[in-house]
Amino acid sequence: MQGRIVKVSGPLIVAENMSDVEMYDVVKVSSQKLIGEVIELRGDKASIQVYEETSGLGPGEEVVSTGAPLSVELGPGLIEGIFDGIQRPLKKLYDMTGERIGRGVEVTALDHDKKWTFVPKLKKGDVVSAGDVLGIVQETPLVEHRIMVPYGISGEIVEICGECEKTVVDVIAKIKTDKGVKDVTMMQKWPVRKGRPYKQKLTPSEPMVTGQRVIDTLFPIAKGGVAAVPGPFGSGKTVVQHQLAKWADAQIIVYIGCGERGNEMTDVLNEFPELVDPKSGQPLMKRTVLIANTSDMPVAAREASIYTGITIAEYFRDMGYTVAIMADSTSRWAEALREMSGRLEEMPGEEGYPAYLSSRLAEFYERAGIVKTLSSDGQRIGAISAIGAVSPPGGDLSEPVAQATLRIVKVFWGLSASLAYRRHFPAIDWIQSYSLYADRLSAWYNEHVANDFSKLQADAMRILQEESELDEIVRLVGMDALSYKDRLTMEAAKSIREDYLHQDAFHEVDTATSLEKQYKMLKLILDCYNLGISALNSDVELDDILNMPVREKIGRSKYIPETEMNKFDEIARELKKSISDLADKGGR
Ligand code: ADP
Ligand code: MG
Repeated sequence: MQGRIVKVSGPLIVAENMSDVEMYDVVKVSSQKLIGEVIELRGDKASIQVYEETSGLGPGEEVVSTGAPLSVELGPGLIEGIFDGIQRPLKKLYDMTGERIGRGVEVTALDHDKKWTFVPKLKKGDVVSAGDVLGIVQETPLVEHRIMVPYGISGEIVEICGECEKTVVDVIAKIKTDKGVKDVTMMQKWPVRKGRPYKQKLTPSEPMVTGQRVIDTLFPIAKGGVAAVPGPFGSGKTVVQHQLAKWADAQIIVYIGCGERGNEMTDVLNEFPELVDPKSGQPLMKRTVLIANTSDMPVAAREASIYTGITIAEYFRDMGYTVAIMADSTSRWAEALREMSGRLEEMPGEEGYPAYLSSRLAEFYERAGIVKTLSSDGQRIGAISAIGAVSPPGGDLSEPVAQATLRIVKVFWGLSASLAYRRHFPAIDWIQSYSLYADRLSAWYNEHVANDFSKLQADAMRILQEESELDEIVRLVGMDALSYKDRLTMEAAKSIREDYLHQDAFHEVDTATSLEKQYKMLKLILDCYNLGISALNSDVELDDILNMPVREKIGRSKYIPETEMNKFDEIARELKKSISDLADKGGR
């Protein structure tokens, strides 16, 4: 039976005679073999979203099902890859057809001809099950690619190649299963809309340290956690995501550039690949998979891109890695969803978004987490932390995408236009933002950083909150209405904001701060405050406290390199001495 187009509506086509296809099957449309996916079935009519430009298509042209759902190729060659939303290799397409990618180009996601050195870790006679590591490929200097037994296969290894040069489609092992001997290649396929299985989900209990002080100290994300970065244009969403890609303690980065930035392909191919991995000095791409949908690329591929991305992230999680996945921006993704829904003539929900917007968003974020992966011993742990940028029109968080996201994520880094305007970066609003992991992680901080770390966190937050209340009073009746103690609190809050939370992504030292240094910085600022209060109580003049030269040093402590940590002790000593000198001089 042969499907035929009956209607074309932009990226959506309707075809009849399609009763033997299944939902989410991939189809080839017209003699040009454009790639499409069935997204609605009614009787023998299928609605198909087409991942390529559909202009020129018309009724009567053929539609042929491939009989398989939209899937990704998983294997060596993923790292350093730059793919579109359905995992087509952009660089290759670009080289083949130029800036405006040609249509119906047949190209595999991974390079099927390239040879990789496979080093076996198991031997003939070993009994294995899904997830067991058969061997490894050193894919880049930073990533050891673990070749796993595919899902659904278990049994005895009857053949495995010794160290060998193989392509991803060559057989590297044969496994005797209940259903006969199965060939295993280095590449496996997985349907993107289905989460990859794992043994057990665990409770996130460790932070994913990011080196960004406002995040790590006040609004931490757990390894395996989910966070959103909403903010208007220019508030720093992309910089935050890039900083996390560089500095977060994740081994693998999956970055989905989703319609936000770079209208041109060349931007994408150039911009991210220029980032350097600070830990190794290598290009960040050596441990990154990049998925790019520029705003001028077909909208349907953008809808698929977040599933393609999270499937790749799951695959590396299954190897036992900590993966961080960023989507910039989920708002552009949601617009793609809205456009497809409109073409399907579905009943529109709020602001035209389909009613299933929030369940689709949830399906993405729910695939993050920390898990025990599949393997015979069941002890391997992998994690995916997911961070989605949200760019609501006009920065208005009451709109549907922001609202749906906030109901799902556990960390909210709200970027504020006014902070960005004042060039306070990262412009994460400390009053509005939150982390639901903070309480659970405080035990970790106290154990691994310093036993009073969570107390400092709480003190800093309290001072910032007091400041916002005092601000109100100052606005109404002026600074003179405040007590000396309140004024010192205002000064401490200013110091927390300017000396601590403000962090320049582009400054060599300031760009990232270890937890040890974060602790020392914060302790100086809070010690200065607490000692100042006790000095006030012994009748030292407020101005004398504020004019202590050591305050200037505290303000500049963010620029102390990680290798000169003893400088913090010097400043701490000087602080104590300055305060006791003041008390001796002015106090009773
Ligand atoms: P958005 O993605 O929200 O539109 P960007 O991430 O592109 O915004 O940030 C806009 C600009 O703000 C950047 O080009 C940079 O100049 C500045 N900026 C943002 N975050 C920081 C930061 N942490 N440190 C220094 N500058 C920043
Ligand atoms: Mg941006």
